[in-house]
Amino acid sequence: MRTEARVDLAAIRHNVGALAERAAAGAGVMAVVKADGYGHGLVPTARAAVQGGASWLGVAFLEEALALRAAHIDGPVLAWLTTPGEDLRPAVAAGVDLGVYSRAELADAAAAGRTTGVTARVQLKVDTGLSRGGAPTADWPDLCEAAAKAEAEGGLKVTGVWSHFAFADGGPDHPTNSRQAAVFREALAVAAAAGLQPEVRHLANSAATLTAPETHYDLVRPGLAVYGLSPVPQLGGPSAFGLRPAMTLASTVALTKRVPAGSGVSYLHRYVTADDTTLALVPLGYADGIPRSATNVAEVQLAGTRRTIAGTVCMDQFVLDVGADDVHAGDEVLLFGSGAGGEPTAQDWADWLGTINYEIVTRVGARVPRTYLQEER
Ligand SMILES: *Cc1c(COP(=O)(O)O)cnc(C)c1O
Repeated sequence: MRTEARVDLAAIRHNVGALAERAAAGAGVMAVVKADGYGHGLVPTARAAVQGGASWLGVAFLEEALALRAAHIDGPVLAWLTTPGEDLRPAVAAGVDLGVYSRAELADAAAAGRTTGVTARVQLKVDTGLSRGGAPTADWPDLCEAAAKAEAEGGLKVTGVWSHFAFADGGPDHPTNSRQAAVFREALAVAAAAGLQPEVRHLANSAATLTAPETHYDLVRPGLAVYGLSPVPQLGGPSAFGLRPAMTLASTVALTKRVPAGSGVSYLHRYVTADDTTLALVPLGYADGIPRSATNVAEVQLAGTRRTIAGTVCMDQFVLDVGADDVHAGDEVLLFGSGAGGEPTAQDWADWLGTINYEIVTRVGARVPRTYLQEER
């Protein structure tokens, strides 16, 4: 295969098991598989997560939840981001829990419950300080009252109350975390006073799953850690938390050629050969998720050696200067992986490019086939 993102499903099963072990007593795992399983492939990843012990799956959008259902993944699923006018009925009919942030969304969910004849399962989200989704605390009592009323009228059930942290890679000691946890405790009390009895209360992302057991409640909600990457690289890499990176991005040298010293390489000649040398062409580019900002910066492993990308990353290809090394068309190029064989990791790429490991794996493009190792049926 020219290029592939190899996904080790045994690593995903292992990581979910490790997260379940980290979870406080009584807390289950909602594995977050949004964004095509953080680039690893939605359905294979979701299956592996369930096999590894996830009792819930979490996604952002309704289509993602319905794609799980279409693949006969029938366990509890929460989808948390809808816009006005979206048809909620298929998701309600499929037993997908809906994240609800406002009275308008609550009314839409109740209407979908009435028209489908299937009780709409909703999970109310309170904004504890991220200032993104969720009801502001000022509106929370009103939302809870309205939800209790809708429950009494039938067609809708509040299955969950939840929130989301603002700090992941900022570190577990950031004071915002404990402030948000306190606001969440108050919000739970408000929900209880309104008569709501949610099945699940949840707050913890990957970082809090690994470092803040007091925030685990009934479910932890990790995404990144499921894929074996560290959400707190400043505290330790994956192995420090018993995690194994699941994805290896590999390609193949398409062509090698000798060029003289002083040859300008790739668009804009941002790399110029110092000596007579061999160039190797790698058929992956920014359309495949290799950022153009990796130009002259990021490293890959080829023939046992790390090499920095030589010149501009193009849409479909980039070039390596391999000197006098014994490199040939057809040789394997490793962009990132677990690092066990000396190849870079997604964290290395994040560090080189000034971003986070989340973005490196999620942006691997649709043109890159995902292949699966250690599939369990
Ligand atoms: C993406 C997301 C998660 C998972 O976050 P990680 O940092 O990847 O663990 C959990 N909850 C919500 C609401 C999210 O959007």
